[in-house]
Amino acid sequence: MHRMQIVLGFDMETDVGSWTPYYEGLKHGTPVILNILDRHEVTATFFFTGDAARKHPETVRDVKARGHEVGAHTLFHETVGDSLFDIPGMMPVLEEEVPNRLRLCTEWIEQIADMRPVSFRCPRLFGSTAVVNALDALGYVADATYPMFYYRERLRPYHPSREDWTQEGDLRIVELPTFADLSMESKDPYGRDMDQWPLFRTESAQALLRHIDGFVGYCQVRGVEPFLCFYFHPWEFHPMPQGEIHYGEGAVRPDPFIVKNCGPYAAEQLDFLIKTLLDRGAEFVQAQKAAGEA
Ligand SMILES: [Zn+2]
Repeated sequence: MHRMQIVLGFDMETDVGSWTPYYEGLKHGTPVILNILDRHEVTATFFFTGDAARKHPETVRDVKARGHEVGAHTLFHETVGDSLFDIPGMMPVLEEEVPNRLRLCTEWIEQIADMRPVSFRCPRLFGSTAVVNALDALGYVADATYPMFYYRERLRPYHPSREDWTQEGDLRIVELPTFADLSMESKDPYGRDMDQWPLFRTESAQALLRHIDGFVGYCQVRGVEPFLCFYFHPWEFHPMPQGEIHYGEGAVRPDPFIVKNCGPYAAEQLDFLIKTLLDRGAEFVQAQKAAGEA
């Protein structure tokens, strides 16, 4: 049996990611996740936006008290890295704003968690060279961002270059690639059909396991030990509104797949996924630990 290391990452943000200002999923979905993790005795990393931490400090404390890692996910889920595709109402912040925003986000979370976060993930997996340099300077040890479906090169944790975050270099921080099924032929201009998310709930844990098998096979023929970094969200474990969501001065209507099967179905599938991976001998570690071994 080959060693297979797993990082479960949960991005702690408003409902439906960029699409609402609400925290129903964070409030009601987080306990569901924590119970599943407890049942299987596995540990995970929860990346909080500064705003989510400030508005729901009790959730940050729960996550920490249950033995999981508290990481960071920007101030307000803004795009701090390079946009891979356009998001309505979301312009990337300027490169010169990045260090200050990441410093503030770190301080907000540190105040609430009573410990400094050392792991980070960029919203939408839009990372950049400016981001990893700023994180490194702030003392972060892990950035769980690199979207494998898009860059398709790095398979394992690596120290990024200060000139190009997608290449290996001498920064102290470690980039943890979020895996995708590179064994398949992509029909999407961005390679999103190779990605892991959100298959576990739009289809099933079995569908996600097929992508996992594809990735593991891709690694094995290259003599690489498979490393699987996942991304999920608490709002996927609480029913989300279907169709238009009204607030402020209008309404948004997310694509149906974005909110499909959020709630009990997603919880069942996560439970099955973790059980199956444990049966295969996988080792679950927090992002900071995975980075420490790179
Ligand atoms: Zn996010």
